[in-house]
Amino acid sequence: MPTSTAREVMNAAMSEADWQTQITGWAEKRGWWCRHVPDSRRVNAHWPDLELVRVVDDKGGPLPWRFVSAQNMETDTPLFEGHVQFGFIEVKRERGKATPGQETMIALLDLLPGVWAMVARPSDWPEVERRLR
Ligand SMILES: [Mg+2]
Repeated sequence: MPTSTAREVMNAAMSEADWQTQITGWAEKRGWWCRHVPDSRRVNAHWPDLELVRVVDDKGGPLPWRFVSAQNMETDTPLFEGHVQFGFIEVKRERGKATPGQETMIALLDLLPGVWAMVARPSDWPEVERRLR
């Protein structure tokens, strides 16, 4: 009989909502802006749960957002000085399965230059943490 570690038991018990909160909590501390549509059924069934955007400096350190007003838009002032990072996450419970449409959308988005996309289960936490660091 296989034995489970405490981590495996916790991963298996974690709800998708709690897992997503863990991801966005970490992401927001690291300067990511997270977008989530609470009920995506009326938007697009295949679109990933989370969209994450961040601006970083040359060393990868997060930079604060500087939203511009319409007035600023008329000048040549850059929106920000830094690099934009953009990621998508399809959040799944440990035993959750992505639909073929979700798998396809993740694969397509991950092909975009400078964009990453992944399906993430609680056991993927090290990888999620690394991407959002
Ligand atoms: Mg999901």
